[in-house]
Amino acid sequence: KGLSAFIVDADTRGLDASQRIDVIAPHPLGTLRFTGCLVPADRLLGRPGEGFKIAMATLDVFRSTVGAAALGFARRAFDEATRWALKRQVFGHALSEFQLTQARLADMAVAVDAAALLVYRAGWTRDIVGGRITREASIAKLFATESAQQVVDSAVQLFGGLGVVRGMAVERLYREVRALRIYEGASEVLKLVIASRVLDAMSAKKTS
Ligand SMILES: Cc1cc2nc3c(=O)[nH]c(=O)nc-3n(C[C@H](O)[C@H](O)[C@H](O)COP(=O)(O)OP(=O)(O)OC[C@H]3O[C@@H](n4cnc5c(N)ncnc54)[C@H](O)[C@@H]3O)c2cc1C
Repeated sequence: KGLSAFIVDADTRGLDASQRIDVIAPHPLGTLRFTGCLVPADRLLGRPGEGFKIAMATLDVFRSTVGAAALGFARRAFDEATRWALKRQVFGHALSEFQLTQARLADMAVAVDAAALLVYRAGWTRDIVGGRITREASIAKLFATESAQQVVDSAVQLFGGLGVVRGMAVERLYREVRALRIYEGASEVLKLVIASRVLDAMSAKKTS
């Protein structure tokens, strides 16, 4: 009973992957249709009925890597914004000389470093401690993607009108960062996952 996972080769008869889905930033996304596909038994992943467990364990890895991708976007946006703040002259001063700009850059720096530490913790825990890292990966993905959105938005703001001009790096990042808060566990779902891990851990302590 339960779901089972299979590897289905791309050229399997009955598998249709031709319907691409166009989203706001380039992403290899499409709809897969399986119509009367025959899949040999040796293509089974794990044991019968373990498909859901395998999918959830896979999410541990991919949630960490989506967090890492968000971190990369945030770092690039922060770098672009800092260079721009030093260069752009307004009212006879560099943008970076204004304290409001400095406060914004400080918030961005904190967000980037905190996201980095959470992403590294998830990777380290997986590689060194081993086992499931659902809590660490979910926290890393939630924080890194939510904060990257803020960092990229701040970068766009610092660029002013240029920030929304097509072709500018921060404009591209603004479109690219958005989907990360949705796939591999939307932020709301991650909060539920994290809370359930926190509550389970405390319940286990109480009963021991
Ligand atoms: C760029 C991109 C790439 C993707 N890649 C893949 C892929 O490779 N493989 C794949 O299978 N799917 C992929 N997806 C699909 C993605 O996983 C889903 O879009 C995502 O899980 C959200 O599901 P949904 O779109 O059905 O939204 P819904 O489930 O309808 O959710 C809508 C909103 O409700 C919120 N919500 C859901 N449950 C609750 C709750 N209990 N309480 C409060 N709020 C809740 C969600 O967080 C979301 O904000 C991709 C999507 C995108 C945009």
